[in-house]
Amino acid sequence: MSKIELTHVTKRWGGYYAVDDLSMVIEDNAFVTLLGPSGCGKTTTLRMIAGLETPTEGRITIDGVPVFDSELGINVPPNKRRVGFLFQNYALWPNMTVYKNIAFGLSNINDSGAHVNEKGEVCRDETGKAPARKLTKEEIDRAVKRVSDIVKIGMFMDRYPSELSGGQQQRVAIARTLAPGPKVLFMDEPLSNLDAKLRLEMRSELQRLHLETGSTFVYVTHDQMEAMTLASRICLIDNGVLQQYEEPMMVYNRPNNLFVADFVGNPAVNLMEARGEGNGDQWKLKLLDNYEATFTRVGDMKDLSPLPVPDRKVAKENKDTLFQYTIHRVSDEGVDKDYQPDDNDFVLGIRPEFLSICEDGPIEGEVFSAMPTGMETTVRVRVGNYLLTAVVFGGVIYKLGQKVRLNFKGENVMLFGRKDGRMICAGTLKV
Ligand code: ATP
Repeated sequence: MSKIELTHVTKRWGGYYAVDDLSMVIEDNAFVTLLGPSGCGKTTTLRMIAGLETPTEGRITIDGVPVFDSELGINVPPNKRRVGFLFQNYALWPNMTVYKNIAFGLSNINDSGAHVNEKGEVCRDETGKAPARKLTKEEIDRAVKRVSDIVKIGMFMDRYPSELSGGQQQRVAIARTLAPGPKVLFMDEPLSNLDAKLRLEMRSELQRLHLETGSTFVYVTHDQMEAMTLASRICLIDNGVLQQYEEPMMVYNRPNNLFVADFVGNPAVNLMEARGEGNGDQWKLKLLDNYEATFTRVGDMKDLSPLPVPDRKVAKENKDTLFQYTIHRVSDEGVDKDYQPDDNDFVLGIRPEFLSICEDGPIEGEVFSAMPTGMETTVRVRVGNYLLTAVVFGGVIYKLGQKVRLNFKGENVMLFGRKDGRMICAGTLKV
Protein backbone atom coordinates (compact mmCIF):
# COMPACT_ATOMS: atom_id res chain seq x y z
CA MET A 1 0.00 0.00 0.00
CA SER A 2 1.73 3.15 -1.10
CA LYS A 3 0.82 6.77 -1.36
CA ILE A 4 3.47 9.13 -2.69
CA GLU A 5 3.42 12.84 -1.99
CA LEU A 6 5.61 15.48 -3.62
CA THR A 7 5.62 18.97 -2.11
CA HIS A 8 7.29 21.88 -3.92
CA VAL A 9 9.87 19.58 -5.48
CA THR A 10 12.40 21.33 -7.69
CA LYS A 11 15.41 19.99 -9.55
CA ARG A 12 17.74 22.40 -11.23
CA TRP A 13 21.20 22.25 -12.71
CA GLY A 14 22.60 25.77 -12.32
CA GLY A 15 19.81 28.02 -13.59
CA TYR A 16 18.19 25.25 -15.64
CA TYR A 17 14.98 24.00 -14.03
CA ALA A 18 14.36 20.39 -15.07
CA VAL A 19 11.46 20.19 -12.58
CA ASP A 20 9.99 23.39 -11.25
CA ASP A 21 8.03 23.48 -7.98
CA LEU A 22 6.11 20.24 -8.49
CA SER A 23 3.45 19.30 -5.94
CA MET A 24 1.28 16.23 -6.44
CA VAL A 25 -0.17 13.22 -4.63
CA ILE A 26 0.01 9.76 -6.16
CA GLU A 27 -2.68 7.77 -4.40
CA ASP A 28 -2.19 4.22 -3.22
CA ASN A 29 -2.73 1.70 -6.03
CA ALA A 30 -2.86 4.45 -8.66
CA PHE A 31 -1.51 4.05 -12.18
CA VAL A 32 -0.01 7.45 -12.91
CA THR A 33 1.62 8.29 -16.22
CA LEU A 34 4.13 11.12 -16.46
CA LEU A 35 3.59 12.56 -19.91
CA GLY A 36 5.11 15.41 -21.85
CA PRO A 37 7.42 16.31 -24.73
CA SER A 38 11.05 15.23 -24.79
CA GLY A 39 13.14 17.02 -22.15
CA CYS A 40 10.15 18.24 -20.10
CA GLY A 41 11.33 16.59 -16.88
CA LYS A 42 9.44 13.25 -16.75
CA THR A 43 12.43 11.00 -16.12
CA THR A 44 13.91 13.45 -13.63
CA THR A 45 10.64 13.40 -11.67
CA LEU A 46 10.56 9.61 -11.65
CA ARG A 47 14.22 9.37 -10.63
CA MET A 48 13.70 11.81 -7.77
CA ILE A 49 10.83 9.76 -6.33
CA ALA A 50 12.91 6.62 -6.73
CA GLY A 51 15.93 8.18 -5.03
CA LEU A 52 18.20 8.02 -8.08
CA GLU A 53 18.33 11.81 -8.38
CA THR A 54 18.54 14.28 -5.49
CA PRO A 55 16.06 17.16 -5.69
CA THR A 56 17.40 20.66 -5.18
CA GLU A 57 14.48 21.49 -2.93
CA GLY A 58 11.23 20.05 -1.65
CA ARG A 59 9.85 17.08 0.19
CA ILE A 60 8.87 13.57 -0.94
CA THR A 61 7.04 11.06 1.26
CA ILE A 62 6.15 7.43 0.57
CA ASP A 63 3.36 6.16 2.83
CA GLY A 64 3.70 9.26 4.98
CA VAL A 65 7.39 8.55 5.65
CA PRO A 66 9.71 11.26 4.33
CA VAL A 67 12.25 9.80 1.91
CA PHE A 68 13.53 13.24 0.94
CA ASP A 69 13.30 16.57 2.72
CA SER A 70 15.68 19.36 1.80
CA GLU A 71 15.01 21.31 4.99
CA LEU A 72 15.35 18.37 7.38
CA GLY A 73 18.32 16.94 5.44
CA ILE A 74 16.57 13.59 4.82
CA ASN A 75 17.58 11.54 1.76
CA VAL A 76 16.77 7.82 1.95
CA PRO A 77 18.83 5.77 -0.56
CA PRO A 78 16.92 4.01 -3.38
CA ASN A 79 17.44 0.48 -2.05
CA LYS A 80 15.73 1.47 1.21
CA ARG A 81 12.67 2.93 -0.54
CA ARG A 82 11.32 -0.53 -1.50
CA VAL A 83 10.58 0.47 -5.07
CA GLY A 84 11.07 -1.43 -8.34
CA PHE A 85 12.33 -0.11 -11.65
CA LEU A 86 11.70 -1.09 -15.20
CA PHE A 87 13.60 0.91 -17.77
CA GLN A 88 13.53 1.12 -21.54
CA ASN A 89 16.78 -0.86 -21.67
CA TYR A 90 15.91 -3.61 -19.27
CA ALA A 91 19.09 -5.68 -19.98
CA LEU A 92 18.62 -9.21 -18.74
CA TRP A 93 21.76 -11.12 -17.76
CA PRO A 94 22.59 -13.08 -20.93
CA ASN A 95 24.51 -15.82 -19.11
CA MET A 96 21.62 -16.63 -16.75
CA THR A 97 18.47 -18.58 -17.47
CA VAL A 98 15.10 -16.89 -17.12
CA TYR A 99 14.70 -18.52 -13.70
CA LYS A 100 18.04 -17.22 -12.48
CA ASN A 101 17.40 -13.76 -13.89
CA ILE A 102 14.22 -13.51 -11.81
CA ALA A 103 15.65 -15.22 -8.71
CA PHE A 104 18.80 -13.10 -8.63
CA GLY A 105 17.22 -10.07 -6.92
CA LEU A 106 15.43 -12.31 -4.42
CA SER A 107 18.65 -13.95 -3.24
CA ASN A 108 19.95 -10.51 -2.21
CA ILE A 109 16.99 -9.56 -0.02
CA ASN A 110 17.84 -9.36 3.66
CA ASP A 111 15.35 -6.76 4.89
CA SER A 112 14.15 -7.23 8.44
CA GLY A 113 11.63 -10.04 8.62
CA ALA A 114 11.57 -10.64 4.85
CA HIS A 115 9.81 -13.89 4.05
CA VAL A 116 7.68 -15.40 1.29
CA ASN A 117 4.12 -16.37 2.16
CA GLU A 118 2.15 -19.35 0.81
CA LYS A 119 0.99 -17.40 -2.26
CA GLY A 120 4.58 -16.58 -3.18
CA GLU A 121 4.39 -12.92 -2.13
CA VAL A 122 7.44 -11.38 -0.53
CA CYS A 123 6.39 -9.86 2.82
CA ARG A 124 8.28 -7.77 5.37
CA ASP A 125 8.02 -6.97 9.01
CA GLU A 126 7.09 -3.29 8.72
CA THR A 127 7.88 -2.64 12.40
CA GLY A 128 11.50 -3.55 11.69
CA LYS A 129 11.59 -5.75 14.81
CA ALA A 130 12.04 -9.13 13.14
CA PRO A 131 15.65 -10.16 12.45
CA ALA A 132 17.09 -9.88 8.95
CA ARG A 133 17.75 -13.13 7.12
CA LYS A 134 18.16 -14.37 3.55
CA LEU A 135 15.23 -16.01 1.80
CA THR A 136 15.43 -19.81 1.62
CA LYS A 137 15.65 -21.69 -1.68
CA GLU A 138 12.04 -22.85 -1.31
CA GLU A 139 10.84 -19.30 -0.65
CA ILE A 140 12.66 -17.98 -3.71
CA ASP A 141 11.14 -20.79 -5.75
CA ARG A 142 7.63 -19.86 -4.60
CA ALA A 143 8.19 -16.18 -5.37
CA VAL A 144 9.63 -16.90 -8.84
CA LYS A 145 6.71 -19.19 -9.64
CA ARG A 146 4.18 -16.56 -8.58
CA VAL A 147 5.55 -13.75 -10.75
CA SER A 148 6.23 -15.99 -13.74
CA ASP A 149 2.60 -17.12 -13.57
CA ILE A 150 1.45 -13.49 -13.54
CA VAL A 151 3.37 -12.62 -16.70
CA LYS A 152 2.89 -16.09 -18.23
CA ILE A 153 6.49 -17.13 -18.79
CA GLY A 154 6.45 -20.34 -16.73
CA MET A 155 7.32 -22.44 -19.80
CA PHE A 156 10.53 -20.52 -20.52
CA MET A 157 12.29 -20.91 -17.17
CA ASP A 158 15.28 -22.85 -18.52
CA ARG A 159 15.84 -20.70 -21.58
CA TYR A 160 18.45 -17.97 -21.94
CA PRO A 161 17.38 -14.43 -22.89
CA SER A 162 18.79 -14.83 -26.42
CA GLU A 163 16.30 -17.68 -26.95
CA LEU A 164 13.30 -15.43 -26.29
CA SER A 165 11.39 -12.92 -28.40
CA GLY A 166 11.47 -9.22 -27.48
CA GLY A 167 8.06 -9.39 -25.83
CA GLN A 168 8.99 -12.49 -23.84
CA GLN A 169 12.21 -10.81 -22.67
CA GLN A 170 10.16 -7.82 -21.65
CA ARG A 171 7.92 -10.03 -19.56
CA VAL A 172 10.94 -11.61 -17.86
CA ALA A 173 12.14 -8.10 -17.03
CA ILE A 174 8.73 -7.29 -15.54
CA ALA A 175 8.76 -10.53 -13.53
CA ARG A 176 12.24 -9.73 -12.25
CA THR A 177 11.06 -6.29 -11.13
CA LEU A 178 7.91 -7.65 -9.48
CA ALA A 179 9.58 -10.55 -7.67
CA PRO A 180 10.91 -8.67 -4.62
CA GLY A 181 7.39 -7.27 -3.98
CA PRO A 182 7.97 -3.56 -4.57
CA LYS A 183 5.39 -1.22 -3.07
CA VAL A 184 5.83 1.07 -6.02
CA LEU A 185 6.82 0.16 -9.55
CA PHE A 186 8.56 2.81 -11.64
CA MET A 187 8.60 2.33 -15.37
CA ASP A 188 10.46 4.56 -17.82
CA GLU A 189 9.22 3.97 -21.37
CA PRO A 190 9.42 0.18 -20.84
CA LEU A 191 7.62 -0.63 -24.11
CA SER A 192 9.47 1.64 -26.49
CA ASN A 193 11.66 -1.15 -27.88
CA LEU A 194 8.70 -3.23 -28.98
CA ASP A 195 6.85 -3.25 -32.29
CA ALA A 196 3.39 -1.66 -32.46
CA LYS A 197 1.42 -4.91 -32.09
CA LEU A 198 3.44 -6.17 -29.16
CA ARG A 199 3.23 -2.78 -27.48
CA LEU A 200 -0.53 -2.98 -27.59
CA GLU A 201 -0.47 -6.49 -26.12
CA MET A 202 1.96 -5.49 -23.38
CA ARG A 203 -0.15 -2.45 -22.54
CA SER A 204 -3.11 -4.65 -21.78
CA GLU A 205 -0.84 -6.98 -19.78
CA LEU A 206 0.39 -4.04 -17.72
CA GLN A 207 -3.15 -3.01 -16.99
CA ARG A 208 -3.93 -6.53 -15.76
CA LEU A 209 -0.70 -6.64 -13.81
CA HIS A 210 -1.56 -3.43 -12.06
CA LEU A 211 -4.84 -4.91 -10.90
CA GLU A 212 -3.30 -8.23 -9.84
CA THR A 213 -0.34 -6.85 -7.92
CA GLY A 214 -2.18 -3.98 -6.21
CA SER A 215 1.06 -1.95 -6.44
CA THR A 216 1.28 1.74 -7.25
CA PHE A 217 2.56 2.23 -10.80
CA VAL A 218 4.36 5.37 -11.97
CA TYR A 219 4.98 5.24 -15.69
CA VAL A 220 6.96 7.63 -17.91
CA THR A 221 5.99 7.96 -21.54
CA HIS A 222 5.95 10.57 -24.27
CA ASP A 223 3.33 8.53 -26.12
CA GLN A 224 0.01 10.15 -25.34
CA MET A 225 -1.98 7.10 -26.47
CA GLU A 226 -0.10 4.99 -23.96
CA ALA A 227 -0.70 7.57 -21.24
CA MET A 228 -4.40 7.82 -22.07
CA THR A 229 -5.07 4.12 -22.19
CA LEU A 230 -3.10 3.01 -19.13
CA ALA A 231 -3.41 5.73 -16.56
CA SER A 232 -5.82 6.29 -13.74
CA ARG A 233 -4.36 9.82 -13.76
CA ILE A 234 -2.11 11.64 -16.19
CA CYS A 235 0.53 14.07 -15.00
CA LEU A 236 1.29 16.29 -17.97
CA ILE A 237 4.48 18.34 -17.73
CA ASP A 238 5.91 21.03 -20.00
CA ASN A 239 9.29 22.70 -19.49
CA GLY A 240 9.52 21.32 -15.95
CA VAL A 241 6.11 22.75 -14.96
CA LEU A 242 3.04 20.67 -14.17
CA GLN A 243 0.27 21.55 -16.63
CA GLN A 244 -2.49 19.19 -15.52
CA TYR A 245 -2.86 16.21 -13.22
CA GLU A 246 -6.23 14.54 -13.72
CA GLU A 247 -8.03 11.50 -15.11
CA PRO A 248 -7.36 10.91 -18.84
CA MET A 249 -10.88 11.91 -19.93
CA MET A 250 -10.69 15.18 -18.02
CA VAL A 251 -7.33 15.94 -19.61
CA TYR A 252 -8.86 15.17 -23.01
CA ASN A 253 -12.19 16.98 -22.65
CA ARG A 254 -11.33 19.70 -20.13
CA PRO A 255 -7.67 20.59 -20.77
CA ASN A 256 -6.33 23.38 -18.56
CA ASN A 257 -4.76 25.23 -21.44
CA LEU A 258 -3.93 25.21 -25.14
CA PHE A 259 -0.72 23.23 -24.61
CA VAL A 260 -2.62 20.35 -22.99
CA ALA A 261 -5.39 20.47 -25.60
CA ASP A 262 -2.86 20.31 -28.41
CA PHE A 263 -0.56 17.69 -26.85
CA VAL A 264 -3.31 15.15 -26.13
CA GLY A 265 -5.36 13.68 -28.96
CA ASN A 266 -4.56 12.14 -32.30
CA PRO A 267 -5.43 13.59 -34.83
CA ALA A 268 -4.77 16.82 -32.97
CA VAL A 269 -7.50 19.20 -31.86
CA ASN A 270 -8.71 21.84 -34.35
CA LEU A 271 -7.87 25.30 -33.09
CA MET A 272 -9.66 28.37 -34.42
CA GLU A 273 -9.22 31.96 -33.41
CA ALA A 274 -12.42 33.84 -32.60
CA ARG A 275 -13.34 37.32 -31.50
CA GLY A 276 -16.38 38.55 -29.63
CA GLU A 277 -17.99 39.05 -26.26
CA GLY A 278 -19.68 36.94 -23.65
CA ASN A 279 -21.41 37.11 -20.30
CA GLY A 280 -20.12 33.91 -18.75
CA ASP A 281 -23.01 31.82 -20.13
CA GLN A 282 -22.98 32.76 -23.80
CA TRP A 283 -20.48 34.26 -26.18
CA LYS A 284 -21.21 35.78 -29.61
CA LEU A 285 -18.17 35.00 -31.70
CA LYS A 286 -16.83 35.59 -35.19
CA LEU A 287 -14.69 32.78 -36.54
CA LEU A 288 -13.20 31.33 -39.72
CA ASP A 289 -13.16 34.90 -41.16
CA ASN A 290 -16.86 35.28 -41.85
CA TYR A 291 -18.99 32.94 -39.73
CA GLU A 292 -20.95 34.16 -36.73
CA ALA A 293 -21.52 31.68 -33.96
CA THR A 294 -22.93 31.36 -30.47
CA PHE A 295 -20.94 29.50 -27.89
CA THR A 296 -23.01 28.34 -24.90
CA ARG A 297 -21.35 27.13 -21.75
CA VAL A 298 -22.12 23.58 -20.55
CA GLY A 299 -20.91 22.65 -17.08
CA ASP A 300 -18.72 24.64 -14.77
CA MET A 301 -16.30 27.42 -15.56
CA LYS A 302 -12.68 26.35 -15.27
CA ASP A 303 -10.89 27.69 -12.25
CA LEU A 304 -9.37 30.92 -13.51
CA SER A 305 -7.80 32.07 -10.25
CA PRO A 306 -4.22 33.31 -10.70
CA LEU A 307 -1.61 30.58 -11.07
CA PRO A 308 0.81 30.31 -8.13
CA VAL A 309 4.16 31.96 -8.74
CA PRO A 310 6.99 29.74 -7.49
CA ASP A 311 9.28 31.26 -4.93
CA ARG A 312 12.55 30.93 -6.88
CA LYS A 313 15.91 31.67 -5.32
CA VAL A 314 17.66 31.33 -8.67
CA ALA A 315 16.33 32.89 -11.89
CA LYS A 316 14.96 30.36 -14.37
CA GLU A 317 17.06 30.11 -17.54
CA ASN A 318 14.50 28.00 -19.39
CA LYS A 319 11.82 30.68 -19.14
CA ASP A 320 8.11 29.83 -19.24
CA THR A 321 6.78 31.22 -22.47
CA LEU A 322 3.20 31.03 -23.65
CA PHE A 323 2.55 27.97 -25.81
CA GLN A 324 2.52 28.85 -29.51
CA TYR A 325 -0.48 27.05 -30.93
CA THR A 326 -0.84 26.34 -34.64
CA ILE A 327 -3.77 27.30 -36.80
CA HIS A 328 -3.70 25.14 -39.91
CA ARG A 329 -4.01 27.15 -43.10
CA VAL A 330 -3.60 26.43 -46.75
CA SER A 331 -1.42 29.46 -47.38
CA ASP A 332 1.82 30.00 -45.43
CA GLU A 333 0.38 32.82 -43.43
CA GLY A 334 0.44 31.48 -39.86
CA VAL A 335 -0.46 32.89 -36.47
CA ASP A 336 0.47 36.56 -36.26
CA LYS A 337 2.90 36.53 -33.33
CA ASP A 338 3.13 40.33 -33.11
CA TYR A 339 -0.62 40.71 -32.61
CA GLN A 340 -1.46 41.60 -29.02
CA PRO A 341 -4.66 39.77 -28.04
CA ASP A 342 -7.11 41.41 -25.68
CA ASP A 343 -9.94 40.03 -23.52
CA ASN A 344 -12.23 39.71 -26.54
CA ASP A 345 -9.88 37.31 -28.29
CA PHE A 346 -10.52 33.61 -27.92
CA VAL A 347 -9.34 30.30 -29.30
CA LEU A 348 -11.86 27.54 -29.87
CA GLY A 349 -10.75 23.92 -29.66
CA ILE A 350 -12.76 21.22 -31.42
CA ARG A 351 -11.73 17.59 -31.38
CA PRO A 352 -11.94 16.00 -34.85
CA GLU A 353 -14.70 13.62 -33.75
CA PHE A 354 -16.92 16.61 -32.87
CA LEU A 355 -16.70 18.11 -36.33
CA SER A 356 -19.38 16.45 -38.38
CA ILE A 357 -19.66 16.25 -42.14
CA CYS A 358 -23.39 16.47 -42.81
CA GLU A 359 -25.68 17.61 -45.62
CA ASP A 360 -27.31 20.46 -43.73
CA GLY A 361 -24.19 21.82 -41.98
CA PRO A 362 -23.90 25.63 -41.96
CA ILE A 363 -20.21 25.74 -42.93
CA GLU A 364 -19.10 25.20 -46.51
CA GLY A 365 -15.86 23.49 -47.35
CA GLU A 366 -14.13 21.17 -49.74
CA VAL A 367 -12.20 17.98 -49.13
CA PHE A 368 -8.48 18.70 -48.96
CA SER A 369 -7.38 15.16 -48.13
CA ALA A 370 -9.03 11.94 -46.96
CA MET A 371 -7.30 9.03 -45.27
CA PRO A 372 -9.42 5.93 -44.71
CA THR A 373 -7.88 3.39 -42.33
CA GLY A 374 -10.76 0.92 -42.49
CA MET A 375 -12.24 1.59 -39.08
CA GLU A 376 -12.30 5.36 -39.49
CA THR A 377 -11.50 8.05 -42.02
CA THR A 378 -9.56 11.21 -41.26
CA VAL A 379 -10.77 14.00 -43.53
CA ARG A 380 -9.16 17.40 -43.84
CA VAL A 381 -11.56 20.02 -45.07
CA ARG A 382 -10.62 23.40 -46.45
CA VAL A 383 -12.84 26.25 -45.22
CA GLY A 384 -11.64 29.46 -46.85
CA ASN A 385 -7.92 29.41 -46.08
CA TYR A 386 -8.32 27.23 -43.01
CA LEU A 387 -7.90 23.49 -42.72
CA LEU A 388 -10.08 21.59 -40.28
CA THR A 389 -9.76 17.90 -39.48
CA ALA A 390 -12.75 15.61 -39.01
CA VAL A 391 -12.84 11.93 -38.16
CA VAL A 392 -15.65 9.88 -39.63
CA PHE A 393 -16.44 6.36 -38.48
CA GLY A 394 -15.96 3.69 -41.16
CA GLY A 395 -14.07 3.64 -44.44
CA VAL A 396 -15.94 6.46 -46.18
CA ILE A 397 -14.63 7.42 -49.63
CA TYR A 398 -14.28 11.15 -50.33
CA LYS A 399 -12.97 12.71 -53.53
CA LEU A 400 -10.40 15.46 -53.24
CA GLY A 401 -12.08 18.79 -53.98
CA GLN A 402 -15.53 17.39 -53.20
CA LYS A 403 -17.86 20.01 -51.69
CA VAL A 404 -18.98 19.15 -48.16
CA ARG A 405 -20.82 20.88 -45.33
CA LEU A 406 -19.70 20.91 -41.73
CA ASN A 407 -21.21 21.37 -38.30
CA PHE A 408 -19.95 21.34 -34.73
CA LYS A 409 -21.51 18.71 -32.54
CA GLY A 410 -21.60 17.84 -28.87
CA GLU A 411 -20.97 19.74 -25.68
CA ASN A 412 -17.21 19.44 -25.61
CA VAL A 413 -16.20 22.43 -27.72
CA MET A 414 -13.51 24.21 -25.71
CA LEU A 415 -13.21 27.95 -25.21
CA PHE A 416 -9.78 29.36 -24.34
CA GLY A 417 -8.65 32.91 -23.66
CA ARG A 418 -6.19 33.83 -26.40
CA LYS A 419 -4.25 36.16 -24.12
CA ASP A 420 -3.19 33.56 -21.57
CA GLY A 421 -4.08 30.31 -23.36
CA ARG A 422 -6.12 29.03 -20.39
CA MET A 423 -9.40 27.20 -20.81
CA ILE A 424 -12.49 29.18 -19.82
CA CYS A 425 -15.13 26.47 -20.14
CA ALA A 426 -16.58 23.84 -22.48
CA GLY A 427 -19.86 24.09 -24.33
CA THR A 428 -21.77 23.97 -27.58
CA LEU A 429 -21.04 25.99 -30.70
CA LYS A 430 -23.86 26.92 -33.04
CA VAL A 431 -23.18 28.71 -36.31
P1 ATP B 1 12.77 12.33 -22.71
O1 ATP B 1 11.35 12.04 -23.06
O2 ATP B 1 13.54 12.89 -23.87
O3 ATP B 1 13.47 11.22 -22.00
P2 ATP B 1 12.34 13.72 -20.16
O4 ATP B 1 11.06 14.49 -20.07
O5 ATP B 1 12.40 12.42 -19.48
O6 ATP B 1 12.75 13.59 -21.70
P3 ATP B 1 14.49 14.52 -18.44
O7 ATP B 1 15.40 13.38 -18.72
O8 ATP B 1 13.76 14.50 -17.15
O9 ATP B 1 13.46 14.71 -19.63
O10 ATP B 1 15.33 15.87 -18.53
C1 ATP B 1 14.76 17.14 -18.23
C2 ATP B 1 15.74 18.24 -18.60
O11 ATP B 1 16.85 18.21 -17.72
C3 ATP B 1 16.30 18.05 -20.01
O12 ATP B 1 16.29 19.30 -20.66
C4 ATP B 1 17.72 17.58 -19.78
O13 ATP B 1 18.59 18.07 -20.78
C5 ATP B 1 18.06 18.16 -18.44
N1 ATP B 1 19.01 17.30 -17.70
C6 ATP B 1 18.83 16.02 -17.38
N2 ATP B 1 19.90 15.53 -16.70
C7 ATP B 1 20.78 16.57 -16.61
C8 ATP B 1 22.09 16.72 -16.01
N3 ATP B 1 22.69 15.72 -15.38
N4 ATP B 1 22.68 17.94 -16.11
C9 ATP B 1 22.07 18.97 -16.73
N5 ATP B 1 20.83 18.90 -17.29
C10 ATP B 1 20.20 17.71 -17.24
